[in-house]
Amino acid sequence: MNPKTMNYYSLNHRSPNVDFREAAIRGQAPDKGLYFPGQVNTLPGEFIEGLKQLSPEEIAYKVLAPYVDGSIPEAELRRIVKETIAFDIPLVKVTENIWSLELFHGPTLAFKDVGARFMSRCLGYFARERKEKLVVLVATSGDTGGAVANGFYDVPGVDVVILYPSGKVSPVQEKQVTALGKNIHALEVKGNFDDCQRMVKHAFVDDELTSKLFLTSANSINVARWLPQQVYYFLALRQWNEEKPPVICVPSGNFGNICAGMLAGRSGLPVEHFIAAVNRNDVIARYLASGDYQPVQAVATLSNAMDVGEPSNFIRIEEIFGKEWTSLTDHLSAASITDEETIATIRRVYQKYQYLLDPHGAVGFLALERYLKEHPGQKGIFLETAHPVKFPESVEKIIGGSIPVPDHVKPLLTREKVSTLIEPEYGALKDFLLK
Ligand SMILES: *Cc1c(COP(=O)(O)O)cnc(C)c1O
Repeated sequence: MNPKTMNYYSLNHRSPNVDFREAAIRGQAPDKGLYFPGQVNTLPGEFIEGLKQLSPEEIAYKVLAPYVDGSIPEAELRRIVKETIAFDIPLVKVTENIWSLELFHGPTLAFKDVGARFMSRCLGYFARERKEKLVVLVATSGDTGGAVANGFYDVPGVDVVILYPSGKVSPVQEKQVTALGKNIHALEVKGNFDDCQRMVKHAFVDDELTSKLFLTSANSINVARWLPQQVYYFLALRQWNEEKPPVICVPSGNFGNICAGMLAGRSGLPVEHFIAAVNRNDVIARYLASGDYQPVQAVATLSNAMDVGEPSNFIRIEEIFGKEWTSLTDHLSAASITDEETIATIRRVYQKYQYLLDPHGAVGFLALERYLKEHPGQKGIFLETAHPVKFPESVEKIIGGSIPVPDHVKPLLTREKVSTLIEPEYGALKDFLLK
């Protein structure tokens, strides 16, 4: 492969093109646009036909190498992709025509582990290459903090500082950011999530601070978090033994996950159709139905990781299809599911098929089931994006029983919480970072 033929451009088109390394370190382009790869990789037919003969690590490497494009040497990248997918991603049959791709077997029990692990290891490599310690600064309202903390845990050359609102995250979420120790530092802010976010944003525009520290954010739009999500769509097809390609249904909030799947589809992965399953936050479902894009304030639902009023990654899906409306709507449809339907689905699928869904997976299951009823002869996969034990308040009430905690997360819950309590003021954050 020729080094550096893959450039990333900003979707706002007012920033210079950069390579993978620069795009991953910056997160967002200076003009505030999302980075997008200059070419969509095309995978050879024999690669797709031979998926079953390849190891998951080999598949992950082949899918990601063109996008990393020499920014990381081959041996190092192979090590990184291997660690990224070092847990099971099984495809489990639930009904006659519906399969679940279980993405919750990672350390924080949600699919975000995949992107967080890849990004953290790439950034760790870039920090070592610069011989400078990298400081990752994140504000979290809950889930992101855990996945990021875990992804960076014990990665050499990286320090992580996580701000979270005191008393406003669940006990498990708090343990996920405060009980790891080593290079993970938790700042417990006497305020709300907006205070945390404001303090982090302030740090990035403080020239004095950024001249002293090699600072980055672990933003969810980072290409190093977005692109590796393609891999498990290939791993799903590696386990698919049906005659025709599947319909794939993705519970969606910010649309990063489904966008990665559609990029995989564009690269040659055989997928019949994509469905974005959303909750009451249905701005994209309404857009696809009417052509009219109207972002709104998010409303709270049971599938709270999908409570997004203005999905930031949707613009990347439009870019994949060159903004051609017919091509886009041929490949993608969307369905909105209410909380009542989510509850009824968790109960029904548990009773009828002995399969326990989490609220996000339930939204995906029902959207897929409805689509398949209207398209007889097709079969499909929904992405089960989180383990039901992460949502005990709703799921345990619905099924009337308790959910066992998976063994590999038990040790964390008994570890001690260590955090630094600070005032909701930028000065307090700056003092901590400079000492
Ligand atoms: C983040 C998240 C989603 C939404 O994913 P997007 O990439 O933002 O569309 C869905 N389910 C769970 C459990 C999540 O944590």
